[in-house]
Amino acid sequence: MINIKDLYKSYGKVDVLKGIDLDIKEKEVVVIIGPSGSGKSTLLRCMNYLEEPTKGTVCVDGIVLDGEANINKVREEVGMVFQRFNLFPHMTVLQNIMLAPMKVRHMAADEAKSEAVRLLTRVGLADKADNYPTQLSGGQQQRVAIARALAMKPKVMLFDEPTSALDPEMVGEVLDVMRSLAKEGMTMVIVTHEMGFAREVGDRLLFVDQGKILEQGTPKAVFEHPQQERTKLFLSKVL
Ligand code: ADP
Ligand code: MG
Repeated sequence: MINIKDLYKSYGKVDVLKGIDLDIKEKEVVVIIGPSGSGKSTLLRCMNYLEEPTKGTVCVDGIVLDGEANINKVREEVGMVFQRFNLFPHMTVLQNIMLAPMKVRHMAADEAKSEAVRLLTRVGLADKADNYPTQLSGGQQQRVAIARALAMKPKVMLFDEPTSALDPEMVGEVLDVMRSLAKEGMTMVIVTHEMGFAREVGDRLLFVDQGKILEQGTPKAVFEHPQQERTKLFLSKVL
């Protein structure tokens, strides 16, 4: 589903990604962990061309990300959820979810609405359809953000620390939605510090450090038998 070959990304003189090779299969759930500043967000952002690689190729569902047409096509297929929910404050929850399908996919309003209601029900927020984002808790807003991404019927979902900005008691409700997505076979790439969740839901765990994939394997294998000293040091601080 995602093929990344020899990916480099620099900002000016700062080399952030230094040769990433990564193949992600359909329905695979890949969790990325690593120290702050190691390039995790940059790697995710290269997967939907929010960042342009300095070198190397990124290919999603057979589409090579280079020309503008390809990029737009891929952005329709790859949903992204950020640490900050970025809902449109002047729109209701329902309008937030209906917007992209109508604008980008030219879906009729009534169809977009019934789909939005279905997705809201799925994330447990059917009763919030007519509320504005500020009337919701952080956890509820993040579940709306997930529903909004799903409304485009993406083939891949990218999550960049989706629970890091939440109060602790709201983390679980967001992880529950992600867990159910994984169960239904969504291809997912998740940057998170939730190690218990990573272990439970991840098919594969990547440890990224200084712009490289330093180590990878099943979460169980990496957590229990890390091979690299830097992985051991990192895990000793977070587990
Ligand atoms: P992580 O998500 O692992 O914390 P990031 O991918 O956000 O790491 O950042 C990796 C490095 O790239 C950091 O040193 C960060 O300061 C730098 N960086 C990220 N985005 C930009 C940017 N737009 N311009 C310049 N430097 C950036
Ligand atoms: Mg980050």
